[in-house]
Amino acid sequence: MRYFSVVASATTPGPNPKPDLTNQSRQHLNPRANGVRAALPPFVDWPAFPFEGELRIKALQEPVSVEPPRRGDRQEQCAACHTPDSAYLWTNERWRLKSPPAPSGLPVVVILEPRAHLDLGDLSTMHAAELGVLTVRLERAIRSLESVAQVHVNRWGDGTAHLQQWFLARPQGYLQLRGPFMTMWDEILPPVEEHEWRMNLEYISAWLTDD
Ligand SMILES: [Zn+2]
Repeated sequence: MRYFSVVASATTPGPNPKPDLTNQSRQHLNPRANGVRAALPPFVDWPAFPFEGELRIKALQEPVSVEPPRRGDRQEQCAACHTPDSAYLWTNERWRLKSPPAPSGLPVVVILEPRAHLDLGDLSTMHAAELGVLTVRLERAIRSLESVAQVHVNRWGDGTAHLQQWFLARPQGYLQLRGPFMTMWDEILPPVEEHEWRMNLEYISAWLTDD
């Protein structure tokens, strides 16, 4: 998944507080500007951080004056709006639930979308209330799987214009996967067994249908 970088500032279990960068210029992250390499943040030493060895921080690119379009900014080009219900795990009148096309390192990854071409801030009061109810139902369904300890719920607005709310399950007992680095571990760990993945998805779909 490519969404990790935008959540790097979220809270992560670990022994050290986040560095306070509030009064520092971002210029220090550009080594070409001052010839000094930026110090690594404390989280690189946390057990949850998936990498070790010699690390260095990339130079921060200059901000762009105009943000690029997101996928589906023009509805006629929106992939979600052109995908039939048959590609989804579960649907109702206003919502649809899907999974990535193949198993990954986590026991469950599912994505909830409104049927209509709406982003989070576009939701009506009714849609917003339903999103809250569905979020709780899905969290409960996924967490009730024996192989799952916790469920992380995320929405990153950078990639697509059509709202996608992600549900990512942390496998039971794997404390090292706690926190936002789990999205990296999802790509690092070997994929879960295909039959287990399918059973988990069918269980969640049935839960939503029966609830
Ligand atoms: Zn759409």
